[in-house]
Amino acid sequence: MKKISRRSFLAAAGMTVAALALTACGGSSSSTASSAASSAAASSEAASSSAAAAELTTVEAGKLTMATNAAFPPYEMTTDTGAFEGIDIETAQAIADKLGLELQIDDMDFDAALLSVQQGKADIVMAGVTVTDERLAVMDFSDSYATGIQSVIVPENSDIATIDDLSGKKIGTQRGTTGYIYCSDDFGDDAVIAYDNGLTAVQALNNGQVDAVVIDNAPAKEFVAANPGLKILDTSYAEEDYAIGMAKGNTALEDAVNAALEELKSDGTLQSIVDKYIVAE
Ligand code: GLN
Repeated sequence: MKKISRRSFLAAAGMTVAALALTACGGSSSSTASSAASSAAASSEAASSSAAAAELTTVEAGKLTMATNAAFPPYEMTTDTGAFEGIDIETAQAIADKLGLELQIDDMDFDAALLSVQQGKADIVMAGVTVTDERLAVMDFSDSYATGIQSVIVPENSDIATIDDLSGKKIGTQRGTTGYIYCSDDFGDDAVIAYDNGLTAVQALNNGQVDAVVIDNAPAKEFVAANPGLKILDTSYAEEDYAIGMAKGNTALEDAVNAALEELKSDGTLQSIVDKYIVAE
């Protein structure tokens, strides 16, 4: 696994990180978690630590099905060999282990991943998903497990220095994300172009098709590191909470996921997963 520089979740934007090879992830693929994620293998002790697990009804019996968009480093991405890795992948694996379930990862576009839990096709969506009031109206969320920031990526020689400078510019975002929602609310639908994922938005910025990209700070850093000539504005657009999305009303699953998350927070597992992917400056 490649490492990137550490930062705290709320560190200022714009720090240099080591380049990370990124591959566009078209289409949809499905696999059980392998390599890095399975290193936290289920132990019978872990499986029995959440009593609720025995009563859980999941989309596929014996499995915890996770919808994600594996083009969002360092939360979810694919390795050169096509395995899934990242903070969300390993956290989901650790939760599945505690629940005594096999983790099944379904990779799709971000907006499809949000819909997947609402339509009962996946048990959880983990994709750096921000909790918003609009989403709370159609799905439930676990307790938050991370903080995110909406950042602005621009070419190094850009005249855009503040959020207000985005007025009158073309802004690239990922379809269905909070970045898209904020920008279309603030600058109008016509100002915002929605791309399949962050990498295609950044490619559009490189090609001059948009003047800026608004995206979460952690993937922004990785995209900028991999694309010379771009920078992240020091100012942040919004601060957000990431949580695990689930279908409305499955309280047994929500309780079990929150109990597992709480254990992973208090025993330091969650922090060690974060530290593995986000290395301190
Ligand atoms: N945090 C953002 C959102 O929830 C983007 C997530 C993503 O692109 N994977 O809308």
